Amino acid sequence: MTSAETFFGGAPVACATAPGRVNLLGEHTDYNDGFMLPVATPQGTTVALARSHDDQHHLYSGTLDGNVSFAAKGGSAPQGFGSYIEGCIRLVEALGVEIPPLRVFVSSNLPLGSGLSSSAALEVATLRALRQLLGDELASRMDDVKLAQIAQRAEIDYAHVNCGIMDQMASSLCDERNMLFIDARTLEHRLVKMPEGTELIVIDSGMPRTLAASKYNERRAECEEASRKLGVKALRDVTDPSVLGPLPEPLRRRARHVVLEDLRVLEAAKGVSAERFGELMNASHDSLRDDYEVSIPELDKLVAALQAAPGVLGARLTGAGFGGACVALCRAGQARQAAQIALSNYNKEGRKGRILIPVPAPGKENNEPV
Ligand code: ADP
Ligand code: MG
Repeated sequence: MTSAETFFGGAPVACATAPGRVNLLGEHTDYNDGFMLPVATPQGTTVALARSHDDQHHLYSGTLDGNVSFAAKGGSAPQGFGSYIEGCIRLVEALGVEIPPLRVFVSSNLPLGSGLSSSAALEVATLRALRQLLGDELASRMDDVKLAQIAQRAEIDYAHVNCGIMDQMASSLCDERNMLFIDARTLEHRLVKMPEGTELIVIDSGMPRTLAASKYNERRAECEEASRKLGVKALRDVTDPSVLGPLPEPLRRRARHVVLEDLRVLEAAKGVSAERFGELMNASHDSLRDDYEVSIPELDKLVAALQAAPGVLGARLTGAGFGGACVALCRAGQARQAAQIALSNYNKEGRKGRILIPVPAPGKENNEPV
C-alpha cells in the first residue's frame, strides 16, 4: 500500500472528492424517459493529481493497491480502473484543453461493485480534480451538468459499460441531504430536500445479480412494445393508468409499474412528509415485485425485515433487481440499530447480507454489530 505522500514525493496540486449514489424512487423509469430520485452516499472517492516528470500518466488506486501507466499522447489504452480515468482525460482534451502528463492517486471508502456507483464517483472526482488543476480554462467549458455528461461518456466509450446518466448526475449534483430529481427525457433536474428527521440504510443482499442482464433486456423490450401498442413515444407519456386496460398481459403490468412509479417520483419530488415518502418506497417495492417482476425471494425477505424493524418508514429494492441492494428510510438516529435487527433476521439461514450505509466502523466486518 502506497501513501499519497510517497506517491507524489510531496503534496498533490489538485484534489477532489465525489460521492456515490443510491436511488430512492424511480426504478426502471430511465429507459422509459421517466423520472428518478437518487441521493448521494456519505461515502465517496477522492482523486489527487500532480504533474508527472515523464511523458506518461501514472495512476495508483489505494482501494485496489494497483498501478496503471499509459502514454499521455498516443499509445495503447489502459485496462481496468485506468480506462475510466483515461476516458475523463481524453474527453477533457477533446474540449480543446491541454492536459500535462499526470500522477493520479485514487482513494475511496465506497464499496466497489455493490451498486452505490463507485464508477461514477471515480469519474466525477477525476473530472473535478482536473477542473481544479486547469482552473478557468476548463471551468468555463465544463459546468456540473456537462461534467456528468462527460463522466457518462467516459464510462460508455472507454470502460465500455453502457450506463444511463443518473449515476453521474447524482454524483455531480446532489449530496447526502439533497436528492436529485431527474427527468430522463429533458435532463431537467432540481434538488429536493430529504424528508426532515430521516436517515438511510442500504444493505447489500449478498445475492449475485445473475439474471439481471437478460431480464433487463426483456423488460426494456416489453416497455417498447407497450409504448408501440399505446401509440406513445415512451411510457413516460402515459399519465393516466386507466388507459392501460386493453394491453395484453404481462405488458399491462409492466406498463403499470412504470406509469405509477413515475407518479410516485413526481409526488415525492414535490416534497412530502417522511411517513408519506416511506409509503411511496413500500409501494415501489410491491410494484417491482408484483407488476415488474424484478425482485427475488431474498430481496423480498430483506425488504420485509427492514420494513418490520423499529424506526423504519419504508423500504424497497434499489437498482435493477434480481439481487443487489435494498434501501430503507428511517427516523434519524435509528438507522444503525434497524439495520442490525433486519440483518440478524435476514442472515439467519446463511445469507450474507451486509450494511453499506450507515458506513461500517473501521475494522468491523460490515455484517457484524457496529
Ligand atoms: P459500481 O459503480 O456499482 O460500484 P461498477 O462495476 O460500475 O460498480 O464499477 C466498479 C469499477 O469502477 C471497479 O471495478 C473499478 O474498475 C472502478 N473503480 C471504482 N472505484 C474505484 C477506486 N476507488 N479505485 C479503482 N477503481 C475504481
Ligand atoms: Mg457503476
